[in-house]
Amino acid sequence: MERATHLPPSNREGIDAWLQTLPLELTHTFKGHTPCVEIQQPAEKVFCDAGSGLQNYDATNDSAEGTHYHFFLSHLHWDHIQGFPFFQPAYAARNRITFHTAHREAPTVFKQQMAAPSFPVNFSELKARIAFSFFEPGDTIRLGALSVQTILQPHPNKSCGFRFDLGDQSIVYASDCAHGKEAHEDTYPFLNFFDHADILILDAQFSLTEANTSKSGWGHSNAIIAAELATRAEVKHLVLFHHDRKLDDTVLIERLAQARAYQQVYARALRGMAPDPNEPMQISLAFDGLVLDPSSRKNQ
Ligand SMILES: [Zn+2]
Ligand SMILES: [Zn+2]
Repeated sequence: MERATHLPPSNREGIDAWLQTLPLELTHTFKGHTPCVEIQQPAEKVFCDAGSGLQNYDATNDSAEGTHYHFFLSHLHWDHIQGFPFFQPAYAARNRITFHTAHREAPTVFKQQMAAPSFPVNFSELKARIAFSFFEPGDTIRLGALSVQTILQPHPNKSCGFRFDLGDQSIVYASDCAHGKEAHEDTYPFLNFFDHADILILDAQFSLTEANTSKSGWGHSNAIIAAELATRAEVKHLVLFHHDRKLDDTVLIERLAQARAYQQVYARALRGMAPDPNEPMQISLAFDGLVLDPSSRKNQ
């Protein structure tokens, strides 16, 4: 209400511009859909996971001749596949869909979630040409100029992380992964996997206490270990991901503030000097609709 006293003239453009000046916690909620991230790049369409956010995908600008959609599946837990039955391009014969997965059960699981009486359309009735391409964790997959490295992550029922490199830009998607005591070792393999990533999308579902006590071994990380790993790997922008849907936004914002404060102290202790004020690591909370450019340091 206090901010509203500075409301600009009541025209649409003025209000929109004013809304842009408000902090995120007043204009967004950080909760919402289950995991689904699009990696935009010049060639074919690439997604990480097929959570409920996938139903909002707008295909109106996709090619009328047909598009090839690639899904890199971290794992088959339901929150990561439940959006697929609502993915409209799957219903068009002109399109191709390839699921890249380390899980041999994936075809069965995708068919099961659309089987009667759970869904009115059977998986076999989808018109798009759908294929499953299996990889072993550690493999590198190439889609044109895009390189996709894979890594096995500690999580129930096996989860995989993906590193996308295109030219000198890199994005890592590492959801559903517990980074425990072994994360403190110098040879921890994720340090290489995250190394100098422009954007690191990292699981931070639990509090530090939960991750180390009541929910230890449940397969999720916390914002503090995320900040440590991102600092050691010299990541540019850490995005805290896969929020606990039971939490209020105020709790998530508090965790973000703690992670930012901790990262400053940790970086100073690690390097024996203050972080470069011209190159501070950014830390953000993921939210539905967030768009980030790996070539830009001016993201939210
Ligand atoms: Zn999971
Ligand atoms: Zn999950």
